[in-house]
Parts: sequence; C-alpha cells; structure tokens
Amino acid sequence: MYSAEFYNWCKVELLLVKASECLRKKFEQCWQHKYKVAWSNSPGCRQNFMNNVGLNVCRHVGKIQKEYLEGGDIKKWDLSIFNAIFTMSDLNRDKVFQANLKRLMPIRNSMAHHSDKKISTQEYQHYWNELKGILLFLGVTDEELDDILHSHSSDSKMYILNENVKKSIELKQEGNNLLKEQKFKMAASKYTDAITLPGLPDGDLSVLHSNRSFCYLKLDKYAQALEDAKLSKRLNPEYLKAYIRLGKAYEALEKYDKAVKNFDKALSLDMNNEEIRQMRSDARRLKGLQERDNDESLHELNMKSRQEFNAMKNKDEVKKMMFKYNPSLEHVWAGHEYRDDQNYSMAVECYKRAADMRNAEGMYNLALFMIKGHGVSKDYTQAFKLLMEVSKFDAFDKRNNPVVGVKEAEHSIALGYQEGSIVEKDLQLAVVWYEKAISHQSGMSANNLALMYTNGGDGLVKNLQQAEQLFLCALNYGDPNAMDNLVHLYLMSGNINKAEKWNEKSKKQGSKLARQREEPIAKMILQSNAHISDVIEWEKGLNLPFENMTVHERFFRKLSYEHPDKPEVLEALQGLESIRNKSDRPSPTKITTKGYKYDFEVLAKRKDTSVFSNRMYFAVLRFMEAMEIFSDIGRRSIVVLDNDSRSFINRLSECYKLEHFVGSMPVDIREVMRKHVLLLLSHSDRAVKHRENSDELAFNQDCRFCHAVLNMQSDESIDFLTECIKKYPNNEFFLELRGCLYNFKETRESALRDFNRIDGILKDDVDNLYHKACTLKLMSRYKEATVTYNKFISVASADHRKVPEAYYSLGTCSMGMSKKKKNIDTDSMARYYEQGLNAEGKQIPFFLPYESTTKELLETMLRTIGGLSKIKGKPVVKLADPFRKDLIVNHRRGVRDFGEVLSSSNGHAIKFTAKPSKTQSAPVSLVGLKPTYLNEIDPTSDHVLNGFVLELTLITEPFDNNMSISFVAEDNNSNVQRVSLYNFDKKHTLAIGAKISIINPYLRSAMDGKPLIRVDDPNSVIVSPHQIVDMCHYCGKGQSKYSCSKCKQSKYCTKECQVLDWKEYSHKLICIP
Ligand SMILES: [Zn+2]
Ligand SMILES: [Zn+2]
Repeated sequence: MYSAEFYNWCKVELLLVKASECLRKKFEQCWQHKYKVAWSNSPGCRQNFMNNVGLNVCRHVGKIQKEYLEGGDIKKWDLSIFNAIFTMSDLNRDKVFQANLKRLMPIRNSMAHHSDKKISTQEYQHYWNELKGILLFLGVTDEELDDILHSHSSDSKMYILNENVKKSIELKQEGNNLLKEQKFKMAASKYTDAITLPGLPDGDLSVLHSNRSFCYLKLDKYAQALEDAKLSKRLNPEYLKAYIRLGKAYEALEKYDKAVKNFDKALSLDMNNEEIRQMRSDARRLKGLQERDNDESLHELNMKSRQEFNAMKNKDEVKKMMFKYNPSLEHVWAGHEYRDDQNYSMAVECYKRAADMRNAEGMYNLALFMIKGHGVSKDYTQAFKLLMEVSKFDAFDKRNNPVVGVKEAEHSIALGYQEGSIVEKDLQLAVVWYEKAISHQSGMSANNLALMYTNGGDGLVKNLQQAEQLFLCALNYGDPNAMDNLVHLYLMSGNINKAEKWNEKSKKQGSKLARQREEPIAKMILQSNAHISDVIEWEKGLNLPFENMTVHERFFRKLSYEHPDKPEVLEALQGLESIRNKSDRPSPTKITTKGYKYDFEVLAKRKDTSVFSNRMYFAVLRFMEAMEIFSDIGRRSIVVLDNDSRSFINRLSECYKLEHFVGSMPVDIREVMRKHVLLLLSHSDRAVKHRENSDELAFNQDCRFCHAVLNMQSDESIDFLTECIKKYPNNEFFLELRGCLYNFKETRESALRDFNRIDGILKDDVDNLYHKACTLKLMSRYKEATVTYNKFISVASADHRKVPEAYYSLGTCSMGMSKKKKNIDTDSMARYYEQGLNAEGKQIPFFLPYESTTKELLETMLRTIGGLSKIKGKPVVKLADPFRKDLIVNHRRGVRDFGEVLSSSNGHAIKFTAKPSKTQSAPVSLVGLKPTYLNEIDPTSDHVLNGFVLELTLITEPFDNNMSISFVAEDNNSNVQRVSLYNFDKKHTLAIGAKISIINPYLRSAMDGKPLIRVDDPNSVIVSPHQIVDMCHYCGKGQSKYSCSKCKQSKYCTKECQVLDWKEYSHKLICIP
C-alpha cells in the first residue's frame, strides 16, 4: 500500500517517538529525584512545574505545545517540549545527555519539514546511524530497536497512527483558525491535509470531514459539501454536527425533504438547541410545507381581536363588562400587552395571575413561555403539565364559543409528541392529540396531521386521501398555510391540474411560494404526460390500480418490480451495523442508562424461553463483564498481557460470537478499546511465536476476532480476516465476518463461498443460513434463496430477530420469481407479509418497532396491487373526515338550541342575520356552466362562483329557522359543507338524501368566521327527481331498514351505524320523540 520511502519515514518517526518516550521517562526520574515526589498529572504537580520550569519553557514553544504543557498531561508532550524542558532547566545537566539531546533535535526538525513523508534509503541510513546511538544512550535495548525496525507488527503501525493523530490535531487547529478569519479555501486545504493522514480514528475523521463540509458550503461547492457531510455521518453516526452539515448541504442542493430530516435528527440529538430548530423551520419553509408552529396564529388572532376591540366606540364599557363577567381575562390581556412590547417577565407575571384563576388562555400562554424560556426559566415538565391541565377544560363554553387556549394546548401537546421536543417522541400519541384538537376545530392541527399523512414514515402509513381531506378541513377552519400544502400534495400525486388550480387560488391570497411555483407547474403540465407514459403502459399491462399513489411511488413500484433486490443493498451488512447506527432505538448496550438495565432484566426473564433469548442474554452479560474489566484496564498507561486482559478479551469475544451488535458502544469508548485491543493482539502474536500451545492459540483467535469486529469499517479488514483464515482455517467466525464484509462490498460470489465453507464446518447453523439466504437473494437466485430462508425459519427460534425479515424477504423473492413468470403472485406475497407481521409480535420488545426496508418494499407493493386489503383492510372512508363530523354535530346542536329558544319564547324566534357582502343570483342562461367540486372551492375567501354548478346530496335533515333552510351536504367526492338557502319556499321537496344542483354558488364566510354555501336566488337551486330513499343517517346508504326506536325518525342501515351515530354524531341532540 505504501512506498518504501514512506516506510523509511515511518521508521524514523517511530524512532523519534521512542526517543520522546525515553525522555518522558527521564523527565519522570529527574522530577522524582529533584522534588522527592513522583510526577503525576495532578493540579498540584502541574502548578509546581509551571512555577519552576514550565514558565520559561512556555515562552519558547509553539501555541499548541504551550496548551499541552499547561494541560499537564505528560503523555501529550512531544520531543520539542522535552527538549525545551531539559535545555532550559537544571533537571539534568549531564553533559553527555545534553549532547545527545543536541544531536536529536535537528533530526526531529528536518523530519517535521518532510511534508511528503518520504525519505530516501540513503537519508534513512544517515538518520538511523544517528538515532541508534542516541537511543542506545537513552537506554533503549537492541531488541527494542530491532522490534521497531524489522517488525511490521501492529504496534509499530500504532505509533505511526498516534503521531498522525497528533499532527491531525495541529492541522485541524490551524484550519479552525483560518475558518475564524473566513479563509475557507485555505482552511479546507488544512483539513484535507489532516484527512489524508493514514490511520486516524473515525471520530477524528468525522469532525474533519464535517469541518471541511462547512468550508465547501461557504465556497458554494455543494456536492462536495454533501459528500463530506455524508462521510462525517458515516464515520460517527452520533455526531450532531454531521447532521447539521447534511441538512445545510441538502438545503443548498434544494433537497429540502432530506434537509428537514437531517435537522430533525440533529434536533433529536440536542433537543434544546434553538439554532437547529431555526434551521429546520427555514428548511421547512423552503420545502414549501408550512407546518404550524405553536403560537404564531394565536398571537395574530389576539392582536386582531384586540385591535377590533380597540376600534370599538364604547370600548371601556364593554371592557368593564367583559372583565366583570370573566375577571381573569384582565390579566390575560395585560399579559398580551406586555408580550407585544417584549416585556416577557411582566407578561409571565400576568399570565401567572390568570393561571392561578384557572384561565385557560393564561395557562396556555404561561406554558408557551416556559417552553421558550421567555421571562421564566425553561421548564418542559411544568409546561407539559400545564398544557395537559388546559386540555381537560371544555373546548367550548355554554354559548358554543371556543374557550381560547384549549385546542391550542392540545395542538402544542401533539406537536410536542411529534417532534419529541417537550416530551418523548411518540407519533401515535401525536396523532391522537392532533385528532383531539381537530375535533375542537383546530386548523393548525388539521394541517399538521395532513402533513404527517402526506409524508408517512416513522410508523405512520402514508395516506394521501386522508391528507387531502385534512388539508381541506384545515382550510375550512381558516388555516391559510394548508393551501400551499394542498398544492404540494397534488403535485406529489401527479394531479397537476388540481395543483395548478389551487396554486392559482393561493397566489390570489398573496402566497410567495405560489408565485414561485407557477412556472414549474406550467412546465410540469407540458412534461407530465410524456414522463409517466411508460409507467402507465406497464400498469395497464398488469392491470394495477394507481389511486392514492404519488408519481414517485408509481415509478418506485415499477422499479422495484423490475429489481426486487435493489432496495436492500443497505441490508447487506445483515444488521451488523444497522442496529448500532440507530441511536433512537433503545439499544441493549447503553452502558450507564436505565434502558440497559431494563433490557437486561427483560432478557433475564426470557432467557430460558428460547435459544435466541438465551444467546442475547449471555451476549449482553458477557459484554457487561467485558466493559467492567475494561473500565479498569482501559485506564492503564501500559498494556500488558495479564490475566485481566485475557479475561477481557475472553468476555468481549464471547459477546461478539454470540451477537455482534450487542457490543455496540459510544464512538469514543470504541476508539480507546480499539487501540487497546490492537496492542493486546500484538502481544498475543508475539506470545504465540514463543509457545504454540492450544490456550495461547485460542486466545490469539479471540484477540483477532475482537480486533476484526472493532475494525469492521476499515478498508483493511478483509485482508486482515483473510490472514486470520489462513492461520485458522476452521474458525467459522472469521469466515462469517468476512462473508458479511464481502456482501457489504457487493462481491457476492466471495461472500457465498465463505458461507458455504461454514456450512462444511457447521451444518445448518442458524445465522449462516440467514446470511446465505440473503446473499442468494441479492444475487437474484430467488429459488435457492427461498429454500434457504425456509430452512433458516425452521431452525431459528421464533423470536430470532431476523425471522420477520426472513418472511419479508420470502415475499420479495416471490416478487422476483413472479417477474420471470410475468405475473404477480399476490396471495403468496400477502401470506409472507402476514407471517412477517406475526413474527414481529414474537420479537423481544426492544427490537420493536421493527424496521426493515424489505418490509417497506413489500408493503408498498401489496398496498398498490390490492394485496394489503386481504390482511388489514381498514379503508379510509368519508366517515373518518373530522370536518364532516364537526358539521353534522354542530348542525344538530343548532337544531336543538333553536328548539329550546323557540319553546322558551312561545314560538317567536329572534330573526337575526348579517347582510351578505356579495349577491348571488341565478344566471340568465344555463349554457356553458361548468361543474365544480368542494375540493376546488377556496373556503377562505368570500366569493361567488359564477358560471359553475355544484352538485350536492343532503346528509342531514334540512332545518328551517324561519329565515333560511340549512343543512349539511356532500358532493360527489364525499367532501362536505354547510348550505343555507334563503328565500326558498319549496322546503317540502328537500329531505335527507335529496340531490340538488346549485348554480353560481356563493362561498360565504359566515358570521361565525367559517364558510358556508349560500343561495339567495331560489331559481339557482335545481332539485333532482332522483334521491336516496331512506338514507342511513350515519353512513349514507339508501334503503335503510332500521329506525331509531325513540325518535322514530332517523334511519339506519345497520345497528352498528345507529350506535356510531349516537356515539360520534351525537344523535341524542336531535332524538326527540
Ligand atoms: Zn349505515
Ligand atoms: Zn332517535
């Protein structure tokens, strides 16, 4: 790999390192001799040193060396430091010693200037002669010198690596300084110099790549910035900055989805980081998907209502009245005033007072301030408690007005669960709370939940129909952001015409994004047909449905059909790495946290229930033991091959042999362990040379195995394993590991050869069967893979963590085989999928939720060919629409309230309506009218749709309040809206189930601020002779047989519908006998 000149350079470096080691020892001796105490890295010792020798020395060394000196860690001191110490102090004035020192320094200096790290043989001879004498004088033995020069053994490499680490730290420092001066190009080249040093630990490299990524970003080299950021992440998946760099790079490349995801990840590593939060919301904005944050709309709302209030003429009196009616409101309003002036601490005081009086708005605002840490110290626990308390309030008061703060609190709770910001992340709970807030008419929540369904993932099934429904719901509740999101949804699903229509509306509302989208949408309209035509062709050929799918998914479906093995490249390492990289999963190996203990307890309970649990139990136990020993021996400065070291290797290798992934650990610990194990290995190699007994040989194999596992990511690991296999041809662990690495490098033939060899040693070993099956699948040898997977399943215990994966893989194999036969075997795919799901249920709890790309692939496939409905058919129906429920329940409440008012006022209802801002009337001619639908009408703007017809079906009984006839109606897409007909005298023609067409409908923002369809000219309503007879009051089916036994009016098609109508639509409100 390296040239002879490089090795020459290394050897001289090694000799110099040896020299500085000698000087270190000398220093310790002299120190002890002079001060009568042994040198230690204690503050006292350091102080003593700085007071005497150090001060002078500090003035004569470089900045970095000065830092090392002051740090007092003697191990970090290098030759030039010791040289300075000995020449400037009286620690050792021995003449011969000083003379040797003098000879040493020029060599060191000329080496430091060998930037190409190459030394010719002649030059090397010269240095060698010089150094040999010096080192012998300093007490190095001939054998030691021999060792350095003639062994290519690992520890000599180790020294080089150490030197490189030091050098890289210097270079990084220089780079960082240049960064501060905004000299990005120069900084990048410093980092490059550091990165190219061989043998740096992953953790250091990760930081260097991250820093260089930052430089590239500043230099507008985005692709390079991305490359570096990716590398940084791969080298250290726990490194926060790697994700920030990834986010920034993706953002620069306009891949906002990925940017947001990475900022999410960064935020999950540091929840309180406001800077990252800001980056993420910027990326979100760029992505064009406006997620509603907590409080902004409320802020505006309050401003608006208060401004309106201030504009009132008799406001002081009204104010007095309001505060008398609700005394805590005075504090809330005062709080808002302070908040708007950014006097946060006073605002908090006011909110606190209101909160003490149990005012929901006050409590909610107080919670928000606690989350932000404005005017009060950050306290998520307390804030969350407050929010939960507010959420218990009634969302509406007696007059059916919303109680400010309640749905907002519910929204905040949901957001907290979604983001994992103030509570532990839990998407299921986020959905529950969003739904709750939506049921209280929160547009923000409808918007956010719709976004979750738009994007899917994280255990939530993507559902575009539901997303559309919810965006429309959000619009009806007045959240204008939903409009741009709706455009995005239509763009995604390839519904470009709809996207264009809504974009037009959004543009009218002044959306900047809509203006930006105009041109690309126009282009897409031109291209779309050409683009997707062969996908359509293919879908037609196999008669596949495509509703509810994005264009991307349709491409993906075709692609995965053609290459069933493609998405699994990632899987090639067979979980060796995948689990360790997932920091968000409770890992069984977090050493100090409760999670670990808990996991271990779970295993202890299960250990006798299955072979796999038993193995896991012992793997974890061995790992714990190994870590315990290492916490002691890892601190030693000298690595020796004593009993402790032996039992450490013994435990660690046991753990690795049982289950590799159990032994994952934080990068920094792994780094220390890696070095330690490397030294132990070199000792062991030497020991084996001396006495080749079986114990020694077994230990050597264990050492090698630990080393190999700890260095799995290194390029040389395959070479190393090959060497091991040559030495120990019957050790299946080396073969297994090498096979996995071959797979990772996509050299499948070699991988298969290794696994077959294991088969010769151990017939039908569980893990080997699994590896083999995967390899066969990746080679598209589906038949053999199927046989092998089945064999694996028959041997493995039910809770083996690869059993579900095996079933899913069988599903994709079936897909692969069907490709050859040109027909899709949906049944067997569905069967495998179901078996996979069942197998998941048998997993050890901490492996859940089960994540697998194979499963995702199979799921997408099944979902889109109708196979999924065979398993868990829960189709989205219109009945899930929260807006429908809201309208129906409110309609019924209106009916009931009116009845009560009527009976209390002896039949004289108060007539009260506001004059509409626009007039609606029937057209002169019916020619040229175009049909329209509710999902094409912007509910946030008050407008008449001239030239359009809206066809509707009544889904509630119409209700006459003496002024107008109102009802809830649905259109042919099952979207719903309220309708009010004025001046309409043919009331008798209308009933639930009636179908009407409204010409020139008027979308009016009603008095309650929400939209309804208003008709003023009765001639614009055409009642159809066709209607749904005996319509079920819940689901809308005709010819319903059952009637409510109490009111005898409402019809139902089934008992279930009746129960649901009672429960969900509050039938009670209108159930009057
Ligand atoms: Zn029904
Ligand atoms: Zn009834």
